[in-house]
Amino acid sequence: MKGYKVRIYPNKEQQLLMNKTFGCARFAYNWTLAKQFESYKNGNKFISEGELRKQFTQLKKDMNANGEEWLYEIPNNATKQAIKDCFKAYKNFFNGKAKKPKFKSKKHSKLSFYNDTYKIKVFDNKVQLEVIGTINLAEKSRIPKGKMYNPRISFDGLYYWLSINVEVDDNQINENKSEPIGVDLGIKTLMAYSNQMNFNRINTKKEIKKLKRLHRKASRHYIKMYKNKTTNKSRNLLKIEKSILKQHRRITNIRFNNIHQATTKLIKLNPSHIVIEDLEIFNLMKNKHLAEKFADCSFYEIRRQLKYKCEWNNINLVIADKWYPSSKICSNCGNKKDKLSLSERVYKCKCCNLEIERDFNASINLKNLAI
Ligand SMILES: [Zn+2]
Repeated sequence: MKGYKVRIYPNKEQQLLMNKTFGCARFAYNWTLAKQFESYKNGNKFISEGELRKQFTQLKKDMNANGEEWLYEIPNNATKQAIKDCFKAYKNFFNGKAKKPKFKSKKHSKLSFYNDTYKIKVFDNKVQLEVIGTINLAEKSRIPKGKMYNPRISFDGLYYWLSINVEVDDNQINENKSEPIGVDLGIKTLMAYSNQMNFNRINTKKEIKKLKRLHRKASRHYIKMYKNKTTNKSRNLLKIEKSILKQHRRITNIRFNNIHQATTKLIKLNPSHIVIEDLEIFNLMKNKHLAEKFADCSFYEIRRQLKYKCEWNNINLVIADKWYPSSKICSNCGNKKDKLSLSERVYKCKCCNLEIERDFNASINLKNLAI
């Protein structure tokens, strides 16, 4: 099963209908949750999914009779699935398997809805959705043919997306594996591989400068609003805010694309194992200045990409124990240093006189974990 997320280009009319559907899905979710809480308060067990759906259908009819037909204007499966999702979340909470589900807020919840698997049709460059119609896809032939699961439409404040899981027949996996590779994550060198390949962090200084300029522009508007005692945002400010969102997206895209290139190159080497550090290590470093630098290095994205790419290619991803001192051990003789400051870029071993680049040394130690 492979997951795909592709940008879609709905027209104005379709956008309107989709925005409506997001609202209806949220409404159905919150309605379900309120029903469950009410039932619990009255000392009853949770309400079954079938009963919920029956009650919701009745609600729709009642509302329609009162001239409120909006729940009939959108794809039926969007609300049906929202009830299902909420039921599942509540049941897991009820059985002690998950946290108490929360109401979806208009401002902060993710805008998304489900499209029925049998009613969605994916073509090379188009997707056909229930009620909403045919929409162009941003990437041609990105989604392969195969059985589809859990298609969802979402909006992130800027763009509309289609997410879908597809069951693909994968007999192309190369089982002819090469030796394990250790990957050391760092600030300067983003990824150092034990086969001596390096990937530097991409430079986004220019883009960040532009972002800061936009923030300054916006703050001048906020100050003006404060002075004029108004909460109404001017058209200009709304435009700036949208540019800020876009600029954030641009920076993330640049960074993530860089990581995609690095992880794909690594996967193509087809090692039996890939070993990386536990990311908790970075939380253990309390240095504030460093923490900032770590945050934008996108370590979590690296791990996320490696996780699914390894899975797709039948490579074992090994996460080292968070206490494993990959930087402090000599990769040649195994001697361990008590202290190693961050400024020491070259590892010098007192026992065997090895002098080796710090990140490279750590990556070999990680690789040795797999061996
Ligand atoms: Zn040594």
